[in-house]
Amino acid sequence: MTDQQTAQPKLEIRVIPTTPLQQNTSMIWSIETMEGVFVDPGGDIDKLMGAAEQFGVNIKQVWLTHGHMDHAGAAKAVKDITGAEIIGPHKDDQWLLDEIESSGARYGITDGQNVTPDRYLEDGDELELGGIKFGVAHCPGHTPGHVVIYNESGALAFVGDVLFRGSIGRTDFPRGNHQQLIDSITGKLWPLGKDIRFVPGHGPMSTFGQERTDNPFVADAVTGYQGAQKGEASEIDQRLAKRWS
Ligand SMILES: [Zn+2]
Ligand SMILES: [Zn+2]
Repeated sequence: MTDQQTAQPKLEIRVIPTTPLQQNTSMIWSIETMEGVFVDPGGDIDKLMGAAEQFGVNIKQVWLTHGHMDHAGAAKAVKDITGAEIIGPHKDDQWLLDEIESSGARYGITDGQNVTPDRYLEDGDELELGGIKFGVAHCPGHTPGHVVIYNESGALAFVGDVLFRGSIGRTDFPRGNHQQLIDSITGKLWPLGKDIRFVPGHGPMSTFGQERTDNPFVADAVTGYQGAQKGEASEIDQRLAKRWS
């Protein structure tokens, strides 16, 4: 009997800051098929396509965590160039995707384009790249249609503007909701395990365990969270060393 888990194909990842807001666009790809995805291509289309060319990645899909222009502004441009399918966010963020062109100038983003995804995402949906499956969690609060895309076995999540190293997403925008955001983080993210490493929409990577220890907004001591304790610190280094290195 072959071991299916050790036969899992490998993915590569590069984080590419885009737009004047230094939004973390991720390029992930299968090193077997060289097919890849841009997660949150916010802008700087030439920089993104340059990265794809440099690593020889054939971009097949765009995954959007939410509708803000610094995350979705270049999705249409990527599709126009590569034919990639645009997937996500949840349909409750379409009103933001319709405002990219009218609201971008306020943030110095003048090359963003409005976009309608080929497919919206729902809580519990599955995505696939190079034979690796990714889960989808609907995490409203920063925006109503925000989703987090994660790979549990690889201990990696793309959390957009839900959670940052030492902070959480803004909720002072229209249709933002602070308590809903806290509930999304404790109810949808923490059960995935402490060892999940995450790429936030801005700033450095971290782990859910780290944020549960010292994030002033969502540390367990602040929220009183007593749910899943899996992925304890002793396991973390070993798991991370094996995956996504
Ligand atoms: Zn945002
Ligand atoms: Zn953002």
